[in-house]
Amino acid sequence: MTTTRFAPSPTGYIHVGNLRTALMNFLIARKAGGQFILRIDDTDPDRSKEEYVDAIKADLEWLGLHWDKVERQSDRLDRYEAAAGKLRDMGRFYEAFETPTELDLKRKKQLNMGKPPVYDRAALTLSDEEREALRAERGNGVWRFKLEHERIEWEDGILGHTSIDAASVSDPVLIRGDGQFLYTLASVVDDTEMGVTHVVRGSDHVTNTATQIQIIQALGGNVPSFAHHSLLTGPQGESLSKRLGTLSLRDLRASGVEPMALLSLMARLGSADPVELRTDMAELIEGFDITRFGAAPTKFDVNDLYPLTARILHERSFDEVKDQIADIGVPDDLAERFWTVTRENITTLNDLSAWWEMFHDGAEPVIDDEDEEFVAEAMALLPEGPYDGETWGQWTAAVKEATGRKGRGLFMPLRKALTGQSHGPDMAQVLPLLQNIKAKG
Ligand code: GLU
Repeated sequence: MTTTRFAPSPTGYIHVGNLRTALMNFLIARKAGGQFILRIDDTDPDRSKEEYVDAIKADLEWLGLHWDKVERQSDRLDRYEAAAGKLRDMGRFYEAFETPTELDLKRKKQLNMGKPPVYDRAALTLSDEEREALRAERGNGVWRFKLEHERIEWEDGILGHTSIDAASVSDPVLIRGDGQFLYTLASVVDDTEMGVTHVVRGSDHVTNTATQIQIIQALGGNVPSFAHHSLLTGPQGESLSKRLGTLSLRDLRASGVEPMALLSLMARLGSADPVELRTDMAELIEGFDITRFGAAPTKFDVNDLYPLTARILHERSFDEVKDQIADIGVPDDLAERFWTVTRENITTLNDLSAWWEMFHDGAEPVIDDEDEEFVAEAMALLPEGPYDGETWGQWTAAVKEATGRKGRGLFMPLRKALTGQSHGPDMAQVLPLLQNIKAKG
């Protein structure tokens, strides 16, 4: 069975970059009728926070990316311990005691000599006595996995044939001195034991993949299919890493972005296919094809989400929004008309409250000098409310008759006087919603 997973570390809110990973894994599983696991990578007890676990779940649920099961790495430490024991027994695991400063110095020396800064495996030559002495002096060392120095190759679902020379990579540290299991080992054990068949993640993990393939093979597991998507950049190709904090799903949601707008964009951004606005998940799943994605960095512009959001809202029925409309204080008898009038004139649902404020309090009139007399005359002809759908037609006919104005010269000054704007919804619909007309004085 096709099994994928989304594996965030609960050390912060998830952002558009994470969403891309989550969505691709979700769509692959759903398209194949398989299983999608939410895996919480929480082996770091200092940085992992329960509130972020909850936030990640809430964000995924908001988007409709439902998972089939949740796994937590903190519940599986015994599994990692068992795998570590296996690697030790095989002679593929060794303890090393260099301090970060020492490692740094080694790297600098290598770079000065024009060599790649790869760990020199000095720890492998330690005698038992030396190891004991170092342990007594410095405490437990880190545990490194001994790579086989050969080319590590795989067919990447996005990058195509990929090959990395293991000799150009340092033996990865899998356990810290304080005993904490690091992601590389935990992830491999989970992927193997949970039967993960496809791993999609960002291209910053390509080197990890090379080392993980060797660890999986050493542990006797099945190597999943890997695909590494490109990283997102800003609209000008600038790095997004610093700005990702402001592109959290939380903030996008608060800004009024609609889930399907976000998903529709993310399911196609960076692929050879155009972005198509989808309104249901089944269409999104159907239209997804990972082989259409390219390796080049993908430009993401948050502003692209708003026209898509507006298009979704233009189609939305009154029933679907009536609670939100009630929440901003629109009385029941005006609510449906309010939605009909505003839905084509909003970008997000957040815009509704400004519209209601305008209808409720009345807009500051905009009256050009040459229209002052005309507007005053027109206002005198405006009957007392409440108004209905006929009032505007009847009133403007009377104004036309009295002043001789017609067309734009008649309608535009009245629109500006009533709404303070030169464009907007049909005035016949607007007038019955106006609870206060400042221009009337
Ligand atoms: N917790 C890892 C991360 O957030 C997961 C990477 C992976 O998908 O293997 O980068």
